[in-house]
Amino acid sequence: MTSVIERLRGESPAFSIEFFPPRDAADEAVLWRSIRELEPLDPAYMSITYGAGGSSRDGTIRSIARVATETTLVPMAHLTAVDHSVAELRNVIGWYAAVGVRNILALRGDPPGDPYGEWVPHPQGLSYAEELVALVRSLGDFCVGVSAFPYGHPRSLDLDTDTKYLVRKFRAGADFGIAQLFFEAEDFLRLRDRVAAAGCDALVIPGVMPLTTPRTLHTTIRLSGAPAPQRLLDRLEPLADDPKAFRAEGLDVVTELCERLIAEGVPDLHFYTFNRSKATREVVHRLGLVPARA
Ligand SMILES: Cc1cc2nc3c(=O)[nH]c(=O)nc-3n(C[C@H](O)[C@H](O)[C@H](O)COP(=O)(O)OP(=O)(O)OC[C@H]3O[C@@H](n4cnc5c(N)ncnc54)[C@H](O)[C@@H]3O)c2cc1C
Repeated sequence: MTSVIERLRGESPAFSIEFFPPRDAADEAVLWRSIRELEPLDPAYMSITYGAGGSSRDGTIRSIARVATETTLVPMAHLTAVDHSVAELRNVIGWYAAVGVRNILALRGDPPGDPYGEWVPHPQGLSYAEELVALVRSLGDFCVGVSAFPYGHPRSLDLDTDTKYLVRKFRAGADFGIAQLFFEAEDFLRLRDRVAAAGCDALVIPGVMPLTTPRTLHTTIRLSGAPAPQRLLDRLEPLADDPKAFRAEGLDVVTELCERLIAEGVPDLHFYTFNRSKATREVVHRLGLVPARA
């Protein structure tokens, strides 16, 4: 099976898609409709996030196994160190391998319940993503991705420290990074420059959220960890009560951002889909990122 890094080294820019595990049968139907609608557009890979515990984690494993066995997509499973001993992490990685998933996004994760609460590692577990990267690498021929933060991770003291630990994840064996949400192409490009200036040539790809509703805008602001630029708010906030106009303007904003990123040579745009396909399909068609037959 092709690895994510092989797909990212393709000749033309590509896109990839991220989903979260379904909570129930209705969710599962929505997820699978979206996967099937995006599959013919030949995304570089697809990923499924890893939840805070219990049934949602089973949902990740079940869904990624189904993608690996029933679709033509390259699957990547997320994995976090939250509430796992090293023995449990080895088990999950083994399950991924057993169903044919050879791409893992290795994350530390947040304290369950309160993402800004104190991080307490499992007594037999890991403290940082860097250690999970090394663990995954030690267990087989996996392609490993990590997270990266254009404005710095919320817990980082400053951008230099943030870059230092990001580069350590690459030195520990990560093949590529996916950036958290951001607003302006320059914000992402500065992250890419910081990594390069630290002497690291690892690929970092931008994370993109189609801005279809005020809720997606607020989620982007929350996840990015930075205030939205006034220029963006001036374009979208006046349309908050007009769903159609908001969606049209939001997708224009995102398309313009993606065009700028492609012009700057990014090999892939990673779309956070919220398990829906329509907005992502629209944007990638507008960007010309889909095969002619689609
Ligand atoms: C693309 C993407 C996908 C994500 N998917 C998921 C998901 O599926 N499930 C989920 O629960 N969360 C997910 N997250 C959120 C992520 O788990 C959180 O952002 C979490 O707070 C940090 O995880 P990390 O892997 O970045 O941690 P780390 O890279 O370990 O960093 C955590 C903090 O510790 C610092 N640090 C790192 N290494 C060291 C060290 N050796 N010594 C001292 N300090 C250090 C870092 O600078 C940072 O401030 C995702 C985030 C992104 C960007």
